[in-house]
Amino acid sequence: MAISPLSKNLLGLFLKKICPTCDSSLSGSELLCPWCELRIDRCSEIHWSSTGTPFRDPSDHLETDLTGVPVYSAVMYSGLPGEIVVRLKFNGERHLATTAAGLIMRYSVRLPGPGDILVPIPAGRKRKRERGYNQAALIAVKLASLSGCRSLDILTRDDSPSQVGLSPSLRRQNVAGIFHMKGRCRIPGGTDVWLVDDVATTCSTIDSAAGVLMDSGASRVRGLTLTYRKRTTDSIIHR
Ligand SMILES: [Zn+2]
Repeated sequence: MAISPLSKNLLGLFLKKICPTCDSSLSGSELLCPWCELRIDRCSEIHWSSTGTPFRDPSDHLETDLTGVPVYSAVMYSGLPGEIVVRLKFNGERHLATTAAGLIMRYSVRLPGPGDILVPIPAGRKRKRERGYNQAALIAVKLASLSGCRSLDILTRDDSPSQVGLSPSLRRQNVAGIFHMKGRCRIPGGTDVWLVDDVATTCSTIDSAAGVLMDSGASRVRGLTLTYRKRTTDSIIHR
């Protein structure tokens, strides 16, 4: 049966793609509208989890020369990505996890490949109860479907005071020893693991979680976050 022009128009309205962050129309396969894209800066540096030190050369040789793990952040926190994080984290806009995963796929200088495992940084029990979900886990699931990896939610996290306002050394102390493997989970030998989170600042959270995964058999761990947040210029989220 032929579709009437009216039905076609209605169908078009329902299928019309809109920008997930500003609701303006999208054309083709765009992730965001051109105006929103203008508010995104790629993160050109990789950071070492043990010190937060930046470097630009993503070669494997460098990765093995220092303690800690490399943390790849797709974009800078300032501008639109910071808004995406806040809306995803505090406004219940879970659909933005898809946007976050899409931005990671587009902008990260290094991406997980098939066979790799994505592990979301878990939220503490109290935080998860308040929000009802863990935004890092939502991003990891979407990222797994885009990259052909598996997402395994295998870490737990003790409740600890917020990292807000803490110095880098206090942040490291605050998250030391708070991560644990769920049950008796072990990582199969030779597996590359990527710890997924929304924001990296000092990278201390990823550093602490990476140690637990290494102790559980991961041959190599890397961090992968949507955003990198400079401590000096951006205020910490207060909510
Ligand atoms: Zn837009």
